Amino acid sequence: MLRAPAHLVIRNNTLINNILNSQKIKMSHHKSSRRIEGLDKNVWVEFTQLAADYSAVNLGQGFPDFSPPNFVKEAYTKAINGGLNQYTRAFGHPPLVKILAKFFGKLMSQDIDPFNEVLVTIGAYEALFCFFQAMVDDGDEVIIIEPYFDCYEPMVRMAGGQPVFISLRPKPVFGRLMTSADWVLDPVELANKFNKRTKAIVINTPNNPLGKVLKCEELQVIAELCVKHNALCISDEVYEWLVYDANEHKRIASMPGMWERTVTVGSAGKTFSATGWKQAVAEGFEKEFELLGAPESYFISLRKELQLKRDRLAACLASVGLKPIIPEGGYFLMADISEVNVDLPECTKTEQPYDHRFVKWLTINKGLATIPVSAFYSTDSKKGFQNFIRFCFVKEDATLSKAEDILQEWSRTRKIQ
Ligand code: GLN
Repeated sequence: MLRAPAHLVIRNNTLINNILNSQKIKMSHHKSSRRIEGLDKNVWVEFTQLAADYSAVNLGQGFPDFSPPNFVKEAYTKAINGGLNQYTRAFGHPPLVKILAKFFGKLMSQDIDPFNEVLVTIGAYEALFCFFQAMVDDGDEVIIIEPYFDCYEPMVRMAGGQPVFISLRPKPVFGRLMTSADWVLDPVELANKFNKRTKAIVINTPNNPLGKVLKCEELQVIAELCVKHNALCISDEVYEWLVYDANEHKRIASMPGMWERTVTVGSAGKTFSATGWKQAVAEGFEKEFELLGAPESYFISLRKELQLKRDRLAACLASVGLKPIIPEGGYFLMADISEVNVDLPECTKTEQPYDHRFVKWLTINKGLATIPVSAFYSTDSKKGFQNFIRFCFVKEDATLSKAEDILQEWSRTRKIQ
């Protein structure tokens, strides 16, 4: 296991970012390993800093700017004050793995052994990293569906694997707003990506940045291909509780033939709106277990609250000509910027993708931070997807109001010009 120096761990909780950051912190006279060449930048480091530098209204990085629920905060304080400050079992605090096994066992209709089938990591990043390191060998192929959360590609490469990309493609829609369900995989194209070198496929539902929630039939196609080619599936489900409208989150691990070949990744930080700390969540799950499906459940009230925020931001974007793609789940909403004409100044480097330059311009000149979606595509596909930007709508109403004011003011000045 790679160990980052302690000061790096404090800077950032995620293992992969520690490794990436270690390039920037000059390690006196030592050159970094070849393994991390080319991994010295990522979109989070660049745009989170830019948002801070310009004190922009931040709808970029995906984190809630509201508090976690009181019952989880209380459990956290109780754990610290009750003396739970030192090591616990390395693979996961026993009360936590027990409730996770019970909780997800119920959801997946599966007996889960808490001590052999559940692993607690420092964030979902570490779970993904461990999976690739443990399962992928030199030359193994790993299928990644675009747009994808950006760390999948470097993690696969660092393990010696070869990423194989396939894009979700938007179907044309007429007379209504597009939704994330309109972006689909071509089953024949997908089948052609599998071969005897395929070790695994990465899926992410609800998807970051698109918000697509994979339907049973879509998961079925993936599951059948995994079984046919004896491939593994790593299913990133960190936004599992955030599904909107009549959509339902489905877990591929509970489909026929998939339990023994799937690693499902969840996130306590996303689940309990506490992305900054990862401990003391066992009590949160205990409480939710009792309330599962009831209206008082945090998982139900949170999604209701977030659906209103999603709809509010989507309406505002539509009214100012930034065409939203209504997400079925998750924290994010992608908007099409192709109909907004902006003369990007010279200072933005023209070799960068258009969305990248647009986001920089919007952050610096209008004080609104977002994330360019080309960051979620491989080098070859970036060119075809330069007209989308990602907004995080998991924000206080006051933050959303500020963003709306900026967008409306900007739209008025555009009309005058
Ligand atoms: N998962 C979050 C997002 O997509 C945060 C990513 C990060 O800061 N590394 O915005």
